[in-house]
Amino acid sequence: MNLDFPLEPGLAEMTEMGRLVVDRVAAFIERLPDRPTSPPADPGLADLVGAFLAPPPEEAGELTALLDRLERATDHAMETAGPGYLAYVPGGGLYTSALAEFYTRGVNRYGGLAIGAPALAALEESVVRWIARDVCGLPSGSGGMLTTGGSMATFSALVAARHAHLGEEIGEGTLYVGAHAHHSVAKAARLAGIREHNVRVVPSAGDLRMDVDAAAAMIRADRDAGLRPFLLVGSAGTTDTGTIDPLPALAGLARREGVWFHVDAAYGGFFRLTERGRDRLAGTELADSITLDPHKTLFLPFGTGALVVRDPATLYAAHEGTGNYLQDAGSGDGLPNYAQLGPELTRENRGLRAWLPLHLHGVAAFREALDEKLDLTEQVYGKLATVPSLELLGRPDLSTVAFRVRPRNGDVAAADRATRRLLDRVNADGRVLLSSTIVDERQTLRICIVVHRTHGDRVAEALDLIIAAAAAE
Ligand SMILES: *Cc1c(COP(=O)(O)O)cnc(C)c1O
Repeated sequence: MNLDFPLEPGLAEMTEMGRLVVDRVAAFIERLPDRPTSPPADPGLADLVGAFLAPPPEEAGELTALLDRLERATDHAMETAGPGYLAYVPGGGLYTSALAEFYTRGVNRYGGLAIGAPALAALEESVVRWIARDVCGLPSGSGGMLTTGGSMATFSALVAARHAHLGEEIGEGTLYVGAHAHHSVAKAARLAGIREHNVRVVPSAGDLRMDVDAAAAMIRADRDAGLRPFLLVGSAGTTDTGTIDPLPALAGLARREGVWFHVDAAYGGFFRLTERGRDRLAGTELADSITLDPHKTLFLPFGTGALVVRDPATLYAAHEGTGNYLQDAGSGDGLPNYAQLGPELTRENRGLRAWLPLHLHGVAAFREALDEKLDLTEQVYGKLATVPSLELLGRPDLSTVAFRVRPRNGDVAAADRATRRLLDRVNADGRVLLSSTIVDERQTLRICIVVHRTHGDRVAEALDLIIAAAAAE
């Protein structure tokens, strides 16, 4: 311990501290398959939570003891990283991305302006361009930025669309989003100053996909009424059911009507790495802007989203800002200043956490993992379709199968109750965790396969549990 400057541990101490942390994390990941998907009921939980609310002490602590405490907190959690986590889209978390993040934080290079570390800015930009051009199919010249998540990406996309189409007169601006779209679109609209009643919810055509004709009629009616339609948002995989909107038709509508076309591919985007995904997500490449979430289908730990845009100048126009203290910042020399493309000024380099896994494992490893998830989903669909007491909400576009108990004698309320009982039974022994939602006013269960650690054995267990629970109804 460096007694003069305790915030600056020496070489041997740094190495030892790092080892202590890595050992714990590696052991944690090793044990993931055996960990329960939900924490067991614990009468000591309130005390544990209370203890963690305490302010820090004046005097120094001890790393091993603090890690012991951390472990208790970590154990008391929904197991989002393990193979049984079939509840929501983001989960897992690549170990190699965590290592990259440790490196990033350790060297602490500034990521807001390219001048801070030009080659590291290029590294981040290589990830952005790969997502924009190779994954999404946008033309050269496209770009964007890595964000902290999909919601932030959609927020900046919406601000860029608003700025490009409405300028400062935003009061009459209207936008169009599907009935099953993620709530982050409505939230972004509110944050961007768009009136709530100017957010038009377009009904689905009956198959959970946006009704393009209805959208067209709404846009026309609004224009006739003197409003200013500026944005159409399509879903490249809804959260509830993974359903993909008719993207090529929506792109055509947006072009004809002269409105910005945004695609929310927070869930679906990286499935474009697979052949099936590329087919089903055709039309994404026609968007003006696209939200993706590397912390979902690129398996990164929580905290990384992506916004890619056809024309980065639109992002710049909406987010650019400067001050006298930045007069030495430089223009980036051909590299983007991410601080000028989004709301944040001081930010970490966000690229390394994707770059290292992509370069270390290679893109094929991600493609194969995503293909595996699609295969597993088809197995689930095929198997559950043979259970007479269950009804399925259509063939899955991505890696979510939505299902519920089929009403007997038209008794929907009883079927809803049975669906909820089924969820409790399946989740009870902590091997898998499914989630529920409401689709068309009916209780609906979701099995959502996105964690990279989920393989056939755990999916087979999930199917056995579901089928046994359905037989008990
Ligand atoms: C998860 C998700 C979002 C929101 O992204 P966050 O990363 O959670 O902010 C938006 N749209 C869809 C379709 C999603 O699945």
